Amino acid sequence: MNVEVLTIGTELLLGYTVDTNAAELGRALAAAGAEIVRRTTVADRPEPIRASVAEALNRTGFVITTGGLGPTRDDMTKTVVAELFGRRLVLDERLLASIQARFDRMGRPMPAVNRTQAEVPEGAVILSNPRGTAPGLWVEDARGVVVLLPGVPREMRGLLVDEVLPRIVTRQGSARRVVRSRTLRTTGVSESALAERVGPIEPEIAPLTLAYLPSVDGVDLRVTAWGLEPTDAEARLGVVVERLKAAVGEHTYGEDDADLAAVLLEALRRQRHRLGVAESCTGGMIGERITNVPGASDTFIGGVVAYADVIKTAALKVPLETLEAYGAVSEETVRAMAEGAQRLFSADCTIAVTGIAGPGGGTPEKPVGTVWLAARVHTSTRALRRVLPGDRDDVRRRAAQAGLDLLRRLLAET
Ligand code: AMP
Ligand code: MG
Repeated sequence: MNVEVLTIGTELLLGYTVDTNAAELGRALAAAGAEIVRRTTVADRPEPIRASVAEALNRTGFVITTGGLGPTRDDMTKTVVAELFGRRLVLDERLLASIQARFDRMGRPMPAVNRTQAEVPEGAVILSNPRGTAPGLWVEDARGVVVLLPGVPREMRGLLVDEVLPRIVTRQGSARRVVRSRTLRTTGVSESALAERVGPIEPEIAPLTLAYLPSVDGVDLRVTAWGLEPTDAEARLGVVVERLKAAVGEHTYGEDDADLAAVLLEALRRQRHRLGVAESCTGGMIGERITNVPGASDTFIGGVVAYADVIKTAALKVPLETLEAYGAVSEETVRAMAEGAQRLFSADCTIAVTGIAGPGGGTPEKPVGTVWLAARVHTSTRALRRVLPGDRDDVRRRAAQAGLDLLRRLLAET
């Protein structure tokens, strides 16, 4: 089943708002068996909206729009679509009552303009929107379907999942074919090293396809099944993901949206270990990543941002002689930081990081991006030197991820 998406909003064209709705629709529709064959963005002006909806309807017969459903003058999608279908806008009393009730709950009087949100094209199906005032609308005639969704991403998503996707699934019946993906997350291994491990099984995974998706967090491996019946797609994905996991080995830490900090916390919790961190160049990013995870408090004790040498010596008891002899970015210093944090926090495990994030400060022996990481579990420390690519922000984010991963891997072995 083919679909066109039209995102409406001048702010999207100007680049002030990133069109996340289009991306989200793409993923969700593919998984439900609807393929987006074209995507268009237009300003909040009646003529381009009218022309785009009409063309998409002629071409494809199924159009989903987002945006322009608010109560203000720049919201005109509904009026334009009603005209296009030759329908009058009629006041829906039940809708008006629900919008009124929404304002009552917030203890505010309903502005007169919100009344227009209760007007719908005659004969349209109202898709109720508990997250906002503008309902979604499903308008259909012999030419096809136009679904109008609000622009606010949270409302758009709610209506898509609750109202639109189930109708699309039903419409396709047993002929439904879907696009489904699963993602294996890896870190600490380059795309080319990964390709060497995975390459040999690549020809065998057809008709599924494999994509390498590098980012500062690592390389994601996304496997996609195209145009298959849903249970067949899931079964084949399962087989391929297991084969990939075996090939990738210790470099993978999870699937889909898995967050390395959450994975690490779970491993620490299972072993009843408590964690402290000592951070120099990452300036608290590791602590931030960890405290982002709900429930971190039972496992995470705290961290020190030991940026200046004086804090490395005073708080972490890194010997001055170590700093003078080897420098702040060295194996000796990072090991002393990990031990110092363990004492300071009475922690079972620690992570320590020190490095040169740039843009200045590099030397031939220690170029920008040089980072020393240490992970400590009880009395054993593992230290690792990495030279990380990218700008200051990249180096810091990669260093935080590498620190979390070093402890994850050490824990897996002990
Ligand atoms: P609207 O329904 O057009 O009044 O949109 C309400 C708000 O939703 C806008 O101010 C934007 O912040 C946001 N928005 C609209 N369209 C999109 C889109 N395609 N992607 C992400 N956000 C959007
Ligand atoms: Mg708008």
